[in-house]
Amino acid sequence: MQAADYYVELENDKVRCDLCPHQCLIHPGHVGICFVRQNQNGRLVPLTYGRVSSVHLDPIEKKPLHFFHPGTTILSVGSVGCNLACQFCQNWEIAKPKDLIKKESAPADPPSFVLDATRALSVDDLLSTADKYIGLGNIGVAFTYNEPFIWFEYLLEATRALKERGLKNILVTNGYVSEEPLRALLPYIDAMNIDIKAFDKSFYQKLGGELEPVLRCAEIANAECHVEITNLLIPEMNTDEEKITMLVDWIADTLGPKTPLHFSRYFPARRFNMPPTPMADLDLARKVAERRLKSVVIGNV
Ligand code: SF4
Repeated sequence: MQAADYYVELENDKVRCDLCPHQCLIHPGHVGICFVRQNQNGRLVPLTYGRVSSVHLDPIEKKPLHFFHPGTTILSVGSVGCNLACQFCQNWEIAKPKDLIKKESAPADPPSFVLDATRALSVDDLLSTADKYIGLGNIGVAFTYNEPFIWFEYLLEATRALKERGLKNILVTNGYVSEEPLRALLPYIDAMNIDIKAFDKSFYQKLGGELEPVLRCAEIANAECHVEITNLLIPEMNTDEEKITMLVDWIADTLGPKTPLHFSRYFPARRFNMPPTPMADLDLARKVAERRLKSVVIGNV
């Protein structure tokens, strides 16, 4: 398997992955926080290169992107793994592949992992699948369902090839990526939906991350491609007016008042069994956002 991009070799066969702000220090045989990048004898390997868990042709509005080629469809593909740990994750079956990874039965040193819920999809096969659906309104490929940036090597190769073919590339992401790989990928990306989970540092700490790199990702991406923002509203966690106002003000002041903002309704998932977000919370969020932003969408209702 090919080596990963963006890592450094350290003493005693350890490596440090620099793909995202976690900068995981990974011992031989172990994987990083995302579970999909493994140190094999002092070499970092992307376990999910060319492995997909889901492939669907979706309306582009489902990404959600409401202001980028509306009315078209987009071939949507995802793999497994995520570099954040949201208890309320709406896609947890594929986001946290710990349960989807099994050790190969034959002992190996270092241990070798097989992703149990994925299948191979080469870049050529992805291109021909995208082509096949052009007649059904497909404009390209959305990398979605799990966190696409941790799929970096496949993403780079696939988006380059799709761009050469004249197709569009879309990322649906949590924005938790280091600046260098983000800038390397952006020339091939046409649109992004970036999930800002809350304008709250302590909220991000509970997910094992930080707010700052996500805001920086949104700002850099916004200068290079079409960007829409999503905020999943979770009752009693991020629905208070002050936090929503801070998020809206940051979007209006930094990305611009024309930036679309999607408030998405939470439903019970994973280890979170709180009832779905009340419609009153979504309505309040919309009212707050419409004071500063021109395009506010309520979704997943
Ligand atoms: S991409 Fe994965 S292995 Fe690399 S730093 Fe982020 S969580 Fe760690």
